[in-house]
Amino acid sequence: MGLFSHMTGFGGRDLAVDLGTANTLVYMRGRGIVLSEPSVVAIDTRTGEVHAVGIDAKRMLGRTPGTITAIRPLKDGVIADFDITEEMLRHFIQKVQQSRFAHPRVVVCVPSGVTGVEKRAVEEACLSAGAREAYLIEEPMAAAIGAGLPVGEPTGSMVVDIGGGTSEVAVISLGGIVVSESIRVAGDELDNAIINYAKREYKVLIGSQTAEELKLEIGSAFPMAEELQAEIRGRDLVTGLPKTVVLTSEEIRIALDDTLQQIIRAVKLTLDRTPPELASDIMDRGMMLAGGGSLLHGLDERMRDETHMPAHIAESPLTCVAVGSGRSLEEFEVIQRIDRASRKRRRRR
Ligand code: ADP
Ligand code: MG
Repeated sequence: MGLFSHMTGFGGRDLAVDLGTANTLVYMRGRGIVLSEPSVVAIDTRTGEVHAVGIDAKRMLGRTPGTITAIRPLKDGVIADFDITEEMLRHFIQKVQQSRFAHPRVVVCVPSGVTGVEKRAVEEACLSAGAREAYLIEEPMAAAIGAGLPVGEPTGSMVVDIGGGTSEVAVISLGGIVVSESIRVAGDELDNAIINYAKREYKVLIGSQTAEELKLEIGSAFPMAEELQAEIRGRDLVTGLPKTVVLTSEEIRIALDDTLQQIIRAVKLTLDRTPPELASDIMDRGMMLAGGGSLLHGLDERMRDETHMPAHIAESPLTCVAVGSGRSLEEFEVIQRIDRASRKRRRRR
């Protein structure tokens, strides 16, 4: 460790946390991603005691006994339950620390729909989990850095991050967000659309886990070279008995369409509000798709078809926000310098 050990606080390594609505990832400086678990907490409703966190808690979703409830504290892109978010954050931060006495610097990425009060609350949660300092980074910025976009350059970069609870669209130039759009429509809503379709067309009730599996296996945003089908089990709404239904990928595409349109509309709206010079950069270089939702089959093709612009999927859509937040730890000073320089330049004009 040597000379600079005092700067990293008793051997605690700086952390970056992607506090997503579906998944939480922790990046450790010098190590990379050290944790990736669902943002789920199981609590005992009688005592308020936390029963399980992350992967263990997710297994309990929808199948818990009477007094234990598995909840997603960040359900719709906002912090639905602050105390539980704090517990979860503390659990994850402590899980990756080798020492109880480690006091790392922590950068946390939160959905941009989160309010000022909630932002301060997240900082507080990090501090109470043992962080020496806590900083927040905006999700689109972290995603762009993680996807390798040249955020510091005077050129427009567009990032579309489709997560579980929110979709965030932003245009970035010179280290800052120029325009952005955040909607509470993303992966969860796609799952709901499948549930509603099964209810409407087949009078069968399926769980959200089944809906998500269907989306991953046969879901698509653009016609497939070879259409697929899948067999699912749910509860017949008329007889109340278990029922098996076969769904095709065409049907799932129809089911997803309205929700996908809302995400596409957010992209178009952002383009519409982008200053012409930056819009021209984006026309050339295209948009970068990130977040788990970007893995939906044919989404890039659909985006190209709808916007007449190039669209690329990030190399690692599920981890780029955590990686980008992590890199901001390393380049913290650089980004601040860019920010200051561009502000000075603006003032001089
Ligand atoms: P968040 O940042 O909100 O935690 P993530 O970026 O981790 O969200 O993405 C989670 C969402 O991505 C979930 O809704 C999940 O169903 C969806 N997802 C993951 N993989 C795929 C896939 N292959 N196809 C479609 N959706 C996917
Ligand atoms: Mg995310």
